[in-house]
Amino acid sequence: MEKIGNFNASGCSIGDLQLFRDGASERTTALLAHCPVIRLEAGEALVEAGGASASSLYIVLRGALAVAADIHTGMDDGTVSKVLPGESVGEQSVLDEASNLAAMSALEETDLLVIDSKLVWELIEQSNGLARNLLRLLSFRIRAANAMLRRRQKLGEFYRQLSMVDSLTGLYNRAWLNDLLPNMITTAHESAAPLSLVMIDLDHFKRFNDTHGHQAGDQALRVAAQVLGAALRPTDFAARYGGEELMVILPDTPHNMALMVAERLCERLQQAIVFNDMRSALPHVTGSFGVASLAGGQDDQALIAAADAALYRAKQGGRNRVSL
Ligand code: GH3
Ligand code: MG
Ligand code: MG
Repeated sequence: MEKIGNFNASGCSIGDLQLFRDGASERTTALLAHCPVIRLEAGEALVEAGGASASSLYIVLRGALAVAADIHTGMDDGTVSKVLPGESVGEQSVLDEASNLAAMSALEETDLLVIDSKLVWELIEQSNGLARNLLRLLSFRIRAANAMLRRRQKLGEFYRQLSMVDSLTGLYNRAWLNDLLPNMITTAHESAAPLSLVMIDLDHFKRFNDTHGHQAGDQALRVAAQVLGAALRPTDFAARYGGEELMVILPDTPHNMALMVAERLCERLQQAIVFNDMRSALPHVTGSFGVASLAGGQDDQALIAAADAALYRAKQGGRNRVSL
């Protein structure tokens, strides 16, 4: 980066500069005349040296500058915009006195007019046109920043949702459960409402896989998820707790009702057709169901442990059944 002269000697005219496109007074012309012009080689980054203070306004006279989007929008999303002759960069750092130089570099040999922040303020005093153009530019950038923020929020929400859903079954996953079950339990305690949990483990699933293949096993898991999805109320939730373990959360549901729900699910699961295979008897999948209801002072871990213990009893009792 080297200083190659001043604006007067650059051969550029003020009218070519976007910020001054409404014309410039003699005073403005005189103030700009002595502003330094620096040259960057292709690939060279702009650094604070050679008369460039931490917060200066830069106007590209020749060449092109690559600017990280965060300078314009305050958000570092890795995008880069190109600043062409007549365009400026650094208005915001002049106004808020924060520097961002490291994120600018020349795309080709580039000449830059450097206007020190003090001088920018002087020019603003001198020229309504400049003040107007600066405001217009800043409002445009605020709009762009807001639009980017909205896009990001949407994208973030999309990925957040995606990360909460199990890809095989479409049920909520463990991360969702860890996130939401404690809240649901707190809410239930606060409102003294019942809440029940059904823990489900598919029976002899290792054998099912060994007999029919892993893909049929996956299909059985999907079918089990569909059975739950179809049988539950809109206010209930089904999640995949682990491999072939599923969980149903029943808010506002006392123990006796939860038992009935579990019985219904157990029944429908054993009737569900996993796949049609003419060569063998229709393969069915069954599950063991453990039901627990929230007791006073119980947290999510204690409730899950209680449902797990009930599930164990269902296995012990012979599988394909509901236990409490
Ligand atoms: P039990 O009735 O006692 O629960 O017997 P089980 O065979 O189901 O129990 P075990 O825990 O020994 O085996 C679970 C099996 O579930 C083993 C594992 O390969 C299978 N499994 C877990 N996740 C998946 C999956 O995503 N797809 C398939 N196809 N199988 C899975
Ligand atoms: Mg298991
Ligand atoms: Mg099992």
